[in-house]
Amino acid sequence: MKLAKYGGIKLRNKPFLDYNSIGQEELEAVKKVINSGCLSAFYGSNSKEFYGGPNVKKLEEMWKDYYNVHGAVSANSATSALIMAIGALGIGPGDEVIVTPLTMSATATAIIVFNGIPIFSDIEDEFYGLDPNKIENKINSNTKAIIVTNLFGHGAKMELIMNIAKKYNLKVIEDCAQAPGVKYRGELLGKYGDIGVFSYNCHKTIQSGEGGVAITDDEELALRMMLIRNHAEAVIGTKPFNNISVNMIGFNFRMTEMEAAVAIEQFKKLDRLNEEREILCNYLNSELSSIDGLIVPKVDKDSSHAYYVYPIRIDKNIIEIGIDDFIDALKEEGIPFFKYGKPLYMLQIYKNLQGYGEIGCPWNCPYYDGKVRYYDGLCEVAEKISIHELMVSEICRQPNTIEDMGDIVKGFKKIIENQEEIINNA
Ligand SMILES: *Cc1c(COP(=O)(O)O)cnc(C)c1O
Repeated sequence: MKLAKYGGIKLRNKPFLDYNSIGQEELEAVKKVINSGCLSAFYGSNSKEFYGGPNVKKLEEMWKDYYNVHGAVSANSATSALIMAIGALGIGPGDEVIVTPLTMSATATAIIVFNGIPIFSDIEDEFYGLDPNKIENKINSNTKAIIVTNLFGHGAKMELIMNIAKKYNLKVIEDCAQAPGVKYRGELLGKYGDIGVFSYNCHKTIQSGEGGVAITDDEELALRMMLIRNHAEAVIGTKPFNNISVNMIGFNFRMTEMEAAVAIEQFKKLDRLNEEREILCNYLNSELSSIDGLIVPKVDKDSSHAYYVYPIRIDKNIIEIGIDDFIDALKEEGIPFFKYGKPLYMLQIYKNLQGYGEIGCPWNCPYYDGKVRYYDGLCEVAEKISIHELMVSEICRQPNTIEDMGDIVKGFKKIIENQEEIINNA
């Protein structure tokens, strides 16, 4: 017996440490806000407070400077920011939006909020983004936009996707929740599309508990997103919003001053935090790439990678055990990896076309004349990779060290060298 799973000696008993990027700076910043007594400074009326308080505004200025764009609109989550983006682009009943199936669920549900129809298009094998070669097949007269996720912190094939969008006059939203501060072929991700969305939730590279930001170079889009963030219906028709007449229903997607104060401090650390992850993950890449049967994450030349999680695949031509057995055996050795999740169209709401209400809007909306269906096998590459090959981990980041990464390497080697034991015990 070699593997811990069958009574062998466990490779690692010490738990890996949880990521923590919060320090004294965040504490001081929050203290200041709390002492001021004003924990959020938004008013849902046509006033200067419509745009939020000092920390919200400062945070947005920092994003504008860093990304060199005209608009940055904070929100209480990236989910809210995605909804703002869809609404600002004027997507409505019957409009189709092409979206990647391998992403967090909100990337697609944001479309449904405005009664748009998510059209899932398959991913490419290299960087797990939308496959540019498959997008054009999905385009028809209902198609209005494309949502790309820069998954795990690496860019999708953005230039090619933007070329298609231009050719068919489609809008593009980049979901960069996992890719803040990442450059792809010389350009920051989030700047390729019309709107780029980022997350500050507690699992992301930088966090304020909950929070999000949408960036755009289009000032009118920014204004529309601000309206959707803050009760548009209450201010539309009053100066200076006279000229804006779409999507007059708003929400309360406002970020508090406390979250913004934390987010400001976190944003200052972004580049350093990204570099620290890259060092650890580059080490893993160099150690694991030489092992037969493992496919380490590809990194485009001239690009960086945020490694939201460390994604690694098994080559089914070489590894004889299934991914679930692999992950299970690794876990027993003290090395936690897990599957990222299935393609979104496998969720019940899509399979059963159960959207709003009894009749199942948006799919049965009278304004929708298409006949989209969601079924297993819809996106073969996404299914093959996510169900049979891919595993990810959240431990490849500080405060864990290169030494800790060394244990991960040993874990992978141990499982691969002892596959027979798993097969024989099956
Ligand atoms: C985390 C995440 C979101 C949602 O972010 P929230 O701030 O939690 O709403 C959206 N898309 C992707 C790809 C994510 O990873």
